[in-house]
Amino acid sequence: MLFQPDANPRGLVPGWVHVEGGSILDVGFGSAPARADLGGDDSCIFPGFIDAHVHLPQFDSIGVAGLELLDWLNTVIFPAEMRWGDPGFAAAMAERATDELISFGTTGFAGYGTVHAESVREAMVQVASRHVRAVFGPSLMDRNAPPELCRVASEQIEALSGFSTIGRVEPAVTPRFAVACSPELMTQAAELARARGWAIQTHLAETRAEMALVASLFGGRPYAQVYDECGLLTPRTIVAHGVYLDDAQRDLLRRRGSVLAHCPTANRFLRAGAMDRDAAQVRGVRLALGSDVAGGPDRSMVRVARAMVETAWSVGHEAPSGVECFRAITRGNAEALGWNACGHIAPGFEADLVVTRPTLGLAEHPDPLGGLLHAWDDRWIEQTIVGGVVEYDVRWRV
Ligand SMILES: [Zn+2]
Repeated sequence: MLFQPDANPRGLVPGWVHVEGGSILDVGFGSAPARADLGGDDSCIFPGFIDAHVHLPQFDSIGVAGLELLDWLNTVIFPAEMRWGDPGFAAAMAERATDELISFGTTGFAGYGTVHAESVREAMVQVASRHVRAVFGPSLMDRNAPPELCRVASEQIEALSGFSTIGRVEPAVTPRFAVACSPELMTQAAELARARGWAIQTHLAETRAEMALVASLFGGRPYAQVYDECGLLTPRTIVAHGVYLDDAQRDLLRRRGSVLAHCPTANRFLRAGAMDRDAAQVRGVRLALGSDVAGGPDRSMVRVARAMVETAWSVGHEAPSGVECFRAITRGNAEALGWNACGHIAPGFEADLVVTRPTLGLAEHPDPLGGLLHAWDDRWIEQTIVGGVVEYDVRWRV
């Protein structure tokens, strides 16, 4: 079975995929050829999952509970990120984290590094070696963080301007958040992104304490407006969270064409609050979905999508269907990141695929994608194909 969200309400169609090189050469509907390389009659094949917001340097910090965002950054995350001062450590950790993501079916992501430019470049090499599609960059910071993690604005921009695309990994301009970035740093970052056409990623309106701090640092101006005045809101900008936006700020995001990455597992884990996805959707804001590891403890994008449903229920809203959830973490996130040949099983698309063998009976199931979403079991993932290459096979786990 192939995940085809627009084919029918069930979202699944019997069929097969022919991969050649890094692309999908052909897609057939009906019975699979007798001699398939992967999968078979009881398999479900999805496009590779895409994570629109993740921090690779935080993979060893998952699960430290009980702290508010700003305390958690200071006591858990910043010390962890200091370890990326060693490029060898950063490269090894990026390799590990990338392999973890692939084992959960993730074949593309928008990722944050640390402030250490050379280490992040080494990390990019590791991500690219697994054929993953990514935007990835050093987290830019020049204030309100430990001195070891702050750099002079112009030096960070100069270092980043020396970056280039490696394999399928494109540099991303990543001012961490307004608390840790001076207006000078954010303005220079926006100018570099505009000159290169690179993606921009940052955090926006995640917690009440952060909102109060940004208001005090920027004379009470609305948080989204702070970014806009620095030129950071573009159609290639992904802002994560947006829990505490008002309609005026949602309208500003819509006018700029920027993407709001909803991170429901992170909002729950750090007890930030429940993001009102409906309100953003009604105002026409482009939406994506992210794990925000390690703010979010779960690396599986399917469980992040399930948390999106549970968050919608918790605030009394209509929740996306199973088909819509799987679409959100595949083609939806691809479109949000501007990856137009990604996230869909069709000829000419990039060959990022997750081959699963669910133990749930799907043939007679009234809502197969809902069943898969809510009962999701990572043991169902048999292979993850990234850029046409099998980068994970369950049989390798012994
Ligand atoms: Zn984050």
